[in-house]
Amino acid sequence: MALVVQKFGGSSVADAERIRAVADRVARSRRAGDEVVVVVSAMGKTTDGLIRLADDVSSVQPGREIDMLLTSGERISMALVCMALAELGVEAESFTGSQAGILTDTDHTKAKILEITPRRLQEALARGVVPVVAGFQGVSTTNDITTLGRGGSDTTAVALAAALCADRCEIYTDVSGVFSTDPRIVREARRLDSVSFEEMMEIAATGGKVLALRSVEFARNHHVPLYVCSSFTWEPGTWVTEEDPSMEQPVVSAVTCVASQGKVTILGVPDQPGVAAKLFRALADELVNVDTIVQNTSTEGLTDISFTVSHSEIEISRAAAERLAPQIGASSVVIDDEIAQVSIIGGGMKTHPGVTAQMFEALAADEINIELISTSPIRISCVVRADQAERAVQVLHHAFSLERG
Ligand code: ASP
Ligand code: MG
Repeated sequence: MALVVQKFGGSSVADAERIRAVADRVARSRRAGDEVVVVVSAMGKTTDGLIRLADDVSSVQPGREIDMLLTSGERISMALVCMALAELGVEAESFTGSQAGILTDTDHTKAKILEITPRRLQEALARGVVPVVAGFQGVSTTNDITTLGRGGSDTTAVALAAALCADRCEIYTDVSGVFSTDPRIVREARRLDSVSFEEMMEIAATGGKVLALRSVEFARNHHVPLYVCSSFTWEPGTWVTEEDPSMEQPVVSAVTCVASQGKVTILGVPDQPGVAAKLFRALADELVNVDTIVQNTSTEGLTDISFTVSHSEIEISRAAAERLAPQIGASSVVIDDEIAQVSIIGGGMKTHPGVTAQMFEALAADEINIELISTSPIRISCVVRADQAERAVQVLHHAFSLERG
């Protein structure tokens, strides 16, 4: 008998029929002899709807109240899933994040999990009851309701799987797994049978939407095997697990894309110790997640620093950079909000020379200009014009023959 955490995303609980289908799947797992803990997202686009509602009501939106509002979405799903399970004769009880023992810090709208004491879930399991937990939420050290950031239900599921020492965490979604790239951009994109935690982290960090980055990080740190699959079909999915040292890793597994990003450039920055530290401290204090950073070699003691941020953080980054520029003696700040980032990812890159050259040649052959480059041992990312991003993804997918696997 295995203990399995099953997480169902928004599209998997989008309406009454989908909710009954979820209950059916949970009931089958139970009949097969597994113990199941269910984690649910809000129905369909409920969270987006609640955010729009808040925007209609007020331009002043304290984080505490946003969190109180948004967590209601998951409460709806969990209660309905329990009712659907009851109808199938499966005893189930719903738990909010707080009731499930998920303790977070006080950073509203992007709280981090500090500790999990899933005592009530364990009690429910011991009684033969299926616990159904509201994803994406917890309770803070000051007893306020918090959310874990958009897409946070994945993190709830993985964190609970770790805390309960589950055998695996199954993530049910509307696609049948992790793909070599977005099938809407490349029709021949393939589902991957397995990817390593490292590859999945890079995929999630560079635009792959199947799993939230933090959930993968959590899974890696706590050795929780993930299985991503569709709740709409019975097709096989993708395993996300520890790298198998006996197997050769694919050189390139996936191509990802962040379709719209912003680039902030600070011109004429004095090339002295401490200047970059001040700038990035100011951004960190605003909780801006800086992506690629590039600093030019200096001429006459002055340099330019560019960094990229997600589209939603352009304005806050601009404000911080403009505030800081005069303080550090920089001349001006320039914003470019029409860039995108394309990346190739593959665990085998570590041991294969020439991948970078092949990537750049493929882009060059299609007249796609590269504006910034960043790398990790298993990833190469290029910033390109936003209107060339899709083309770049297609070109790279083909250049590395990912349609053939
Ligand atoms: N409902 C939340 C969101 O839309 C959390 C989730 O779906 O994982 O971001
Ligand atoms: Mg979701």
